[in-house]
Order: sequence, then structure tokens, then C-alpha cells
Amino acid sequence: MSSDRVVLITGGNRGIGRAIAERFVAEGYRVAVTARSGEGPSGTLTVRADVTDSAALDAAFTQVESELGPIEILVANAGITKDTLLLRMTEDDFDSVVATNLGGTFRVVKRASKGMLRARWGRVIMISSVVGLYGSAGQVNYAASKSALVGFARSLTRELGGRGITANVVAPGFIESDMTAELPENVQAEYKKSIPAGRFATPDEVAGVVTWLASDDSAYISGAVIPVDGGLGMGH
Ligand code: NDP
Repeated sequence: MSSDRVVLITGGNRGIGRAIAERFVAEGYRVAVTARSGEGPSGTLTVRADVTDSAALDAAFTQVESELGPIEILVANAGITKDTLLLRMTEDDFDSVVATNLGGTFRVVKRASKGMLRARWGRVIMISSVVGLYGSAGQVNYAASKSALVGFARSLTRELGGRGITANVVAPGFIESDMTAELPENVQAEYKKSIPAGRFATPDEVAGVVTWLASDDSAYISGAVIPVDGGLGMGH
């Protein structure tokens, strides 16, 4: 389905965010990405911002609004891991992951919601993780930051649902990206055994679900958590 609505994706220079940006471009949207480094894919407007920096985000949003128009669809994708077992996890390991994954989402959603409220139309899509629902040893910080997005999207749905704005969570399983490439091969093989699909997904398999959530076909879906995990998290 094609559309010329304006979409902003955080962390659109690589990985899943980049695939999401490519998919929106292919479907005709006006697409902006935030990047700390590098550039978004061809056909996108790249703006510089770190999601932990409200002032930089505000300037980036203002640039997108003046070049493309008000942001109608927001994909909060930027995220990091700092994996280690609880007893070895420092406060900085915990705080930096929460500040990026949860705090970053808060900052961009708050900034984007102003224009959406004015337009009485908006789509907020947060990229969580199967780990936020299923748990994962060595990822207390990451899992906490990702499960928090579920409560966030559901509360947002209750606040803004009457104004034409939806808020949903996509929970990917294991996706081929720099984040999973860091895992040793034997660990990757072990994970694949526990995934009913028997493989990791491509970033594009997440992107297709995100563009669908942004489309008119999903207008009545809000506060939902959509797994894209090959069956890994079933029932969680
Ligand atoms: P990558 O590590 O490949 O890319 C992460 C992206 O986030 C990069 O664009 C990076 O920018 C950006 N980013 C990180 N920190 C910040 C920050 N402080 N400010 C702005 N941008 C930032 O990860 P993936 O593509 O794999 O992951 C994307 C999202 O999907 C994340 O939220 C991740 O948690 C989630 N996810 C990933 C899964 C996977 O298996 N890969 C599974 C489930 C969820 P830069 O290049 O500048 O570092």
C-alpha cells in the first residue's frame, strides 16, 4: 500500500531501522531517519541526534518538520545492549541501556505526540524484543527496558487513543544484524535450536510488520504487542 505520509525512524543508519526506512521509501512515504553516525538509505533525510539528548532531538525533529512536514508516523527503534550477569552488571550498564531504550523512546514519543495531537492522527511504533517478555539470562537491563515499552504503549493508547493516534509494540526475536552478529557462533546455533522457525529473521521481515502497522489497514490496532520471532516467544 502506498502513502506519502511523513515517517521518522530512530537509528535508521543500519540494522533493523535501516530496513524499516528502506521499506517506507519503497512504499512512497516521506522518510527521515536519525543517526549518530553514517547515513540513512537512499531516498531518506538523515538528521543527527542521539536519543539520550533532548536538545539534539528537538533540533532534529524541527529540521524534519521544516523539510518534510509534521511527523505522522514515529518508529522508536534505536537501542543498545550491554549484556552481563546481574552480579557483574554496573549501574552504568543498567542506566545507559535504560536511558537509550526506554528514555530515548520517551523523548521521541513526547516530542512527536505534539504534531500528532494537532493533526488528530498518528502512529507510534516501538521496537521492543522477545527478551522483554520471555526474559534472558545476562540481559536484566535490556529486558527491563524492553518490557517497559509494553506498559508505555498501552498507557499511551489510553491517553491518546481517542485522538486518532495508535501506539503499538513490535517484539522481534533474533534478527540478522550487528547486534546478533556479536554472538559467538556456538551460541547462535544453540538459539536456532530453540526457535520453531529454525532460523534468524532478516531485518526486512520486521520492516514489513512495521509498515503494515503504519498503514490505514491497522487503524483499529492499538496497545498490541506483535511478535516477529519465528514462534520463539509463544504465549509470552
Ligand atoms: P544495531 O546495533 O544494528 O543498530 C542499532 C541502531 O540504534 C543504530 O542505528 C544505532 O546508531 C542506534 N542507536 C543506538 N544507540 C543510540 C543512541 N543513543 N542514539 C541514537 N541512535 C542510537 O541493532 P538492530 O538493528 O539489531 O536493533 C534495532 C532495534 O531492534 C533495537 O531497539 C534492538 O533492541 C531491537 N531488537 C533487535 C533484535 C536483533 O536480534 N537484532 C531483536 C529484538 C529487538 P549508531 O549506528 O550511531 O550506533
